Amino acid sequence: MKSDKGSKQCSTCKDSSCSASKRRPGETDEEFEARRKLASKLCGIKHRLVVLSGKGGVGKSTVAVNLAIALSMKNHEVGLLDVDIHGPSIPTLLGLEGEPIYGEKGELLPVKYNGLKVISPGFLLHSQDDAVIWRGPMKAGVIKQFIADVAWGELDYLVVDSPPGTGDEPLSVCQVLERVDGAVIVTTPQKVAAVDVRKCITFCRKVGVPIVGVIENMSGFVCPKCGEVTNIFKTGGGQQISESMGVPFLGAIPIEPNVASACDNGKPFVKYFPQSRATEVIYKVVEQIEESFKSKQNDLSSAAG
Ligand code: ADP
Repeated sequence: MKSDKGSKQCSTCKDSSCSASKRRPGETDEEFEARRKLASKLCGIKHRLVVLSGKGGVGKSTVAVNLAIALSMKNHEVGLLDVDIHGPSIPTLLGLEGEPIYGEKGELLPVKYNGLKVISPGFLLHSQDDAVIWRGPMKAGVIKQFIADVAWGELDYLVVDSPPGTGDEPLSVCQVLERVDGAVIVTTPQKVAAVDVRKCITFCRKVGVPIVGVIENMSGFVCPKCGEVTNIFKTGGGQQISESMGVPFLGAIPIEPNVASACDNGKPFVKYFPQSRATEVIYKVVEQIEESFKSKQNDLSSAAG
């Protein structure tokens, strides 16, 4: 649901327990100000979701885009942040390539896709052939800037398309967000992907990120003419891993020509192919996300008395 406009922001926050209200020992004016600015942006974001994968090319960005669109189509206020720094594909998946980013009052304005607010390093590249060469500490700084220096406003959900793997970059994402409310892990059925998804689950547990569940993408090919399913890769790997590691299995998305063409044409499949199996799985994930956050909120309300 659209957020209350008057909800609490750091600039007016009187909560002295907020870590950003006090200067840390040895902190310079600039560091203190930067931390306050980041905290004020995070304060306006109710739920922070990350989409992770053990490796690239499994459909992580496709899932992130369609989750964000589905949440937005359910009338939530949603932001989509692409921090897949070396392979930012969100602009292509939403048909927003070449869109300029404008600044206002010292902040970047997200590019809009209907009601969805989108930020991607892809918007800052002059050409799609440009490669971003950022070293480790710079990458962490860029991730921070994409939160602190962007006019996100009040959001019900921020969906973050994380870089693949379990290295420095996804770790920086979790650290910058301070609190991640849920991770959706995307995998494909092959053995090489399965090994990496276990690492992803372990990563989430180590950094204290609650796992919404695992999606198995590219799980069998459904012939658009006869409906026969051909298991190009072995299927069921995602479900087996979910069961053996004790995390929810959210569903299997088959290889669908409509999904591939929707991606290439910048048209999110949840909007353009509402009857597809892929859309069904995405909405199932959205329901689980809404449900788990609702129960967390109920817990908080009852704890507050
Ligand atoms: P990642 O973010 O993991 O690197 P992407 O989301 O960019 O992967 O997906 C790569 C490409 O794979 C997409 O552009 C899309 O064309 C294709 N793709 C993803 N999922 C499916 C699917 N279920 N069916 C058909 N094509 C898919």
